[in-house]
Amino acid sequence: MTVPILDLSRSFGEIKPEVFAAMERIFDSQSFILGNEVKTFEAHCDSYLDVPEGSCVGCASGTDSLLLALMSCDVHAGDEVITTPFTFFATSGTIARLGAVPVFADVDPNTYNIDINQAMTKITDKTKIFLPVHLFGQMASIEGVISELHERNILTVEDTAQAFGATRFADGKILRAGTVGDVGCYSFFPTKNLGGCGDGGMVVTRDSNRAERLRRLRVHGSGTTYYHDEIGINSRLDAIQAAILDIKLSRLEAWNEERRKIAEYYKLLFKANDLHEFVSAPVELSGNYHIYHQYVVRVKSKRDELMQYLNAEGFAVRVYYPLPLHLQPCFKYLGYKAGDFPVSETLSREVLALPVFPGLKADEQESLVTAMRKFFRK
Ligand SMILES: *Cc1c(COP(=O)(O)O)cnc(C)c1O
Repeated sequence: MTVPILDLSRSFGEIKPEVFAAMERIFDSQSFILGNEVKTFEAHCDSYLDVPEGSCVGCASGTDSLLLALMSCDVHAGDEVITTPFTFFATSGTIARLGAVPVFADVDPNTYNIDINQAMTKITDKTKIFLPVHLFGQMASIEGVISELHERNILTVEDTAQAFGATRFADGKILRAGTVGDVGCYSFFPTKNLGGCGDGGMVVTRDSNRAERLRRLRVHGSGTTYYHDEIGINSRLDAIQAAILDIKLSRLEAWNEERRKIAEYYKLLFKANDLHEFVSAPVELSGNYHIYHQYVVRVKSKRDELMQYLNAEGFAVRVYYPLPLHLQPCFKYLGYKAGDFPVSETLSREVLALPVFPGLKADEQESLVTAMRKFFRK
């Protein structure tokens, strides 16, 4: 048996006729950039995320959504942005792209999300932004610090690339990933829980002035065509992606539920196979609705050998992420060294992502976990 890390074709089958009908509509119209398809999708995202009309602004990628968000917060050279070293590169790449300085704080060993207490100790008079990531589909518990950060003139930008649809119940209400801080950033890269058939992204803000500014920034800073109020970038969502994403948005809740069932079954299988001393399942904090963008376990020893063994047996498992950002060659100039963020460094040696996607079958999970048992118990 071979099991892929992700097989998008299994969920695409369900929406194929709708997608092809939308494509016919778009190709008949020959209108491809922004326009009505994008407006409709943005409006549906406003209601899905329970934010005021006009809050969602589509753009060309998740990376651009971070860049646009930081630009809309006037992040300039020399400003400091507090963030996590245990994430995909774009989180810090966009900070550095603007000449600003990524300032790292370590992560929590259970959730893999930024350690809020440590982050707060990194604040200086140059700190402009707090940039947490809702990693692997679980929200970071940031709601408690937003107002304190505001008092210190610091805005919160949430990297929600992996967590569209994740929620957290706190302070008696449901908080939606990307709408807790000042600006939320989403990616619609094909592998994300809500993924298009190409690149795409979205920025979300409840501040209508900022939303307007984001709409200008994505078209070269132009409010009226060919008149430029400020220097923006070219980062537009296209009609084809918007139409496909709109169809997928209507399935997202069911697909996220399916990912949660898969996660639950892995946990059961670990127990049934007596694997707890070798492998620890991801921890879902109480109140959190984890959407398992990735199902990432910790393997206490022989992670690389286990990965090689499973890959050779036909089970695609992967490491997200093998080298924390503070140790990346391109960030050498920031002056960090090995040992600065021990939790992130340990995680990079222990984490292993197992297949999780709508359409993954129970017997595929069972075979994978059986192979894991064979590896550890011989
Ligand atoms: C995918 C991802 C991004 C970037 O999104 P793209 O659409 O690929 O540009 C940013 N941050 C995180 C945490 C991601 O997983």
